Amino acid sequence: MGKILVIGSLNVDMVMKVDHMPVAGETILCDGMKLVAGGKGANQACAAGRLGTDVIMLGAIGNDAYGEMQRQSLRQSGVDVSGLLTKENVSTGTAFITVNKEGNNSIVVVQGANAQFTPEDIEAHRNLIEECEIVILQLEIPMDTVLYAVKLARKLGKIVLLDPAPAPEHFPEELYQYIDIIKPNESELSRLTGIADAQNHLEEAVQILKDHGVKNVLVTLGGEGAYLDAENKTAVHIPAKKVKVVDTTAAGDSFTAALAAMILDGKTLEEAAEFANQVSAIVVTREGAQDSIPTLQEVLKK
Ligand code: ADP
Repeated sequence: MGKILVIGSLNVDMVMKVDHMPVAGETILCDGMKLVAGGKGANQACAAGRLGTDVIMLGAIGNDAYGEMQRQSLRQSGVDVSGLLTKENVSTGTAFITVNKEGNNSIVVVQGANAQFTPEDIEAHRNLIEECEIVILQLEIPMDTVLYAVKLARKLGKIVLLDPAPAPEHFPEELYQYIDIIKPNESELSRLTGIADAQNHLEEAVQILKDHGVKNVLVTLGGEGAYLDAENKTAVHIPAKKVKVVDTTAAGDSFTAALAAMILDGKTLEEAAEFANQVSAIVVTREGAQDSIPTLQEVLKK
């Protein structure tokens, strides 16, 4: 049995349910706020843990109660937390999440300790990369840290899975060549390729990423499922399950983790994406970030 290493962010999420998303200059009221463990890295580690995968998280928290909350939450999901780095004089990352009536979310992230996660930290923990088979990254930590980690992972012969979220204004061209699988959603695909309505030009947009040197591109399409263009295979659309959506927070994160878990299990990318659709279809029917992620038993029961 292999191991997944998640290199990424840990945040505490403040989740507010709103009638509609506030626009510039608007103040809106909502009834209450939930405080939950989140952050793309932590969500993905948590999902992998709940799916029964051997997973370790490398990331930074502050020396505060929110950091402790994250540690506990990950432990409870079966994640090895020995790679959590505690940074002094900075808070644990925090995310302000509004969820509208349709279940769509809008997020502002305060980076906190995540911004102090450095390439030196990666180097100091290179043994964690050596000991795993798949490295998963997202873009809520500094780009130079991501770049250092993917280069090292590639050098060590590991599978690199990048969830390019949030998509930055400038995605370093150099990064693409180290990625085995990239998994943008529609808006991230648009941002990376400059094609405004990428969902209507999937082939063209995906080809741009492949031309940059990425071997496998998997685009998640919300309620439409996913589009996979794998190396040496014909591109396929993998439909999502029809479900009643409550809250899409962590849909993409659980998809990424489920995908990695199945790749680790020796499944093809298409099989892995089908399974990931099943996992995320459960996530969107539940409220919350990590709380909404099912265990493997729950997925198999559906
Ligand atoms: P993100 O959360 O990153 O924006 P998506 O919205 O594309 O990503 O959703 C990721 C995955 O979650 C989809 O590929 C699908 O498997 C599942 N999903 C999202 N929305 C729905 C929905 N309305 N019905 C069923 N599955 C969904």
